[in-house]
Formats: sequence, structure tokens, C-alpha cells
Amino acid sequence: MSRESEQKTYRAESITVTFEARRCLHAAECVHGLPEVFDTAKRPWIQPDESTAERLTEVVRRCPSGALRYELVGGGSEAPDRPTTITRSATGQLTVRGELSVDTPQGARAETRAVLCGCGQSGLQPYCDHAGPCGR
Ligand code: SF4
Repeated sequence: MSRESEQKTYRAESITVTFEARRCLHAAECVHGLPEVFDTAKRPWIQPDESTAERLTEVVRRCPSGALRYELVGGGSEAPDRPTTITRSATGQLTVRGELSVDTPQGARAETRAVLCGCGQSGLQPYCDHAGPCGR
């Protein structure tokens, strides 16, 4: 199965939100930022109709891992941060935001946000999956 096909899609009238579960590092920015949309007790757990596209784009952009993404139905996707920033945690995780081309086993992926493995222990290379010291 390709990584792209592991994305789930949640559609509202003006925005489509996608979620790639394996990339989620449970930072909970989404559930704290917009609990009426992101509620793990509900099925589906993402209900984009419960907010506006403007609020959704703002909260989705807070997702550090890039597990959450969006596209506007009228056209338009997330503008990358400028300048690109890279932050290294004490355990080696690299949090990257900007206009990215991430080299993956499936080829290059255009991204705006990603948390990359810095310790070599992730099973989801090049992305962090909390397998190493950052997850302990
Ligand atoms: S903000 Fe992103 S990484 Fe954090 S819990 Fe939500 S989907 Fe997962």
C-alpha cells in the first residue's frame, strides 16, 4: 500500500481535510485547537462541517507532523512558511516547516510541515514515529 493511500479524507462544503494516521505524533494541537471538529470519541473523529474553513486551516497548520493537511474546495492549499525553519529537539527529532521536498522510499513528497527522525530508530523513515528516545 502506498503512503498516499493511507490518508483518510474528510470533506465539508468548502474544505477537505486529510489525515495520515502513521504520521500523527499525538501533539493534540488539533483536539485542543478545535475540539468540536477533532474529537476522538466520535466517528468519524474529524467533522469538518462543525467549523469554518478559516478556523480549520488555522488549526490544521498547527499540526507539527504534517499528519493533518487540507485543500480548499475552491482551489488552494496551504502556503508554506517562509523562511523554512528547522528545530532540533534534545532527543534528535527535527521539526521542519516551509517549502519542503521530503525524500521518502516512495519518492519525493511536497510538504509544508514534517517531523523527521533524527535518531535512526523510526520505522517510518524519514519521518519520526516516536520509536526512539523522543517517545520515551
Ligand atoms: S495536531 Fe497533528 S500530530 Fe497532533 S494529534 Fe493532531 S493530527 Fe496528530
